[in-house]
Amino acid sequence: MTTCAALIVAAGRGQRFGGNLPKQYAPLRGEKLLSRTLRAFNSHPKINRIVVAIHPDDADSFAEAAKGFVKVTAVHGGATRQDSVRLGLEALADAAPDLVLIHDGARPMVSATLIDNVIAGLSQAEGVLPVTPVVDTLKRVNAGGIVGETVSRENLVRAQTPQGFRFATILKAHRSFAGEALTDDAAVLERAGHAVATVPGDETNIKVTTMDDLAQLTAALTETRVGQGFDVHKFGPGNSVMLCGLTVPHTHGLIGHSDADVALHAGTDAILGAIGAGDIGQHFPPTNPKWRGAASDKFLKHAYDLLLERGGALVHLDFTIICERPKVGPHRAAMVASVAHILGIAEDRISVKATTTEGLGFTGRQEGIAAQAVATVKL
Ligand code: MG
Repeated sequence: MTTCAALIVAAGRGQRFGGNLPKQYAPLRGEKLLSRTLRAFNSHPKINRIVVAIHPDDADSFAEAAKGFVKVTAVHGGATRQDSVRLGLEALADAAPDLVLIHDGARPMVSATLIDNVIAGLSQAEGVLPVTPVVDTLKRVNAGGIVGETVSRENLVRAQTPQGFRFATILKAHRSFAGEALTDDAAVLERAGHAVATVPGDETNIKVTTMDDLAQLTAALTETRVGQGFDVHKFGPGNSVMLCGLTVPHTHGLIGHSDADVALHAGTDAILGAIGAGDIGQHFPPTNPKWRGAASDKFLKHAYDLLLERGGALVHLDFTIICERPKVGPHRAAMVASVAHILGIAEDRISVKATTTEGLGFTGRQEGIAAQAVATVKL
């Protein structure tokens, strides 16, 4: 069986990136960017092992990024990318896989299909390069920024990684041309006189070079989720009910372990539902005396904090309160303001609606109040 290793180059300092840490360790959707890159190779069935060329200063960051990826080991890279690749290849020399895919650590969007296509291409060639077309018009400008000429796009393509090679061939080429300033591994193979074949690359397989790239990638990976909540509380003795954190005068109170704010309970479950974090009963068990008579704004705030901890944002929280009495309409604006205040977000992200059930069912018989909530979040 053909063996295939991956060599991930992650030793760069990222001078173009700015920020405090090299780009490969920048956070991307709650993990390090490099973790996403490693996952793509670690989960690919045709990749047997992965060597990552890292900077010696990054040992701790790397250990965190590589946690749980069983195929991954690290080697210290060199002063240039070319050096780092050569050192990585030397680390694989004993195992001598048949094939090696060399990939930029800062290309976290590499797909399993692209990895497959590069490997497939190696049945016909010593080296395989994924490429994408040049779509923009190219200009050569002088030092003053004045256009000198328009460069023809004909036969021009953009080179991506992973670049695939027969291992023995690329190791020999890197040993022969160590110290020469060649920009990528395909160029090293070309320098050794071998033909490099191409396969279609992938426009989403971008290399994160600037903060702007990272922001674009984060936006592209942001997803919208919707969670819903439902709750009921029964009327009992009292002269007011809590709804959306507001005291509303009524002929009865609502019975509950906490303050029985049926709307905020539904809202809490809606947010918890959107992030898959269980339900209100799990977080605040009614059996725990600590929550007796508790103000329910705590519950809602807790769910919201969990959302923020996951890097999320609340887009909208929509309540429907179902009862014959008390009339919600006169309090609607104050309820919206109350929820917005609890969460510290704008009022236009909160909606409070009310309905009756036309005298039908338990709400119609005025035995209690039901509430529904729908939370829309970005993650
Ligand atoms: Mg409840």
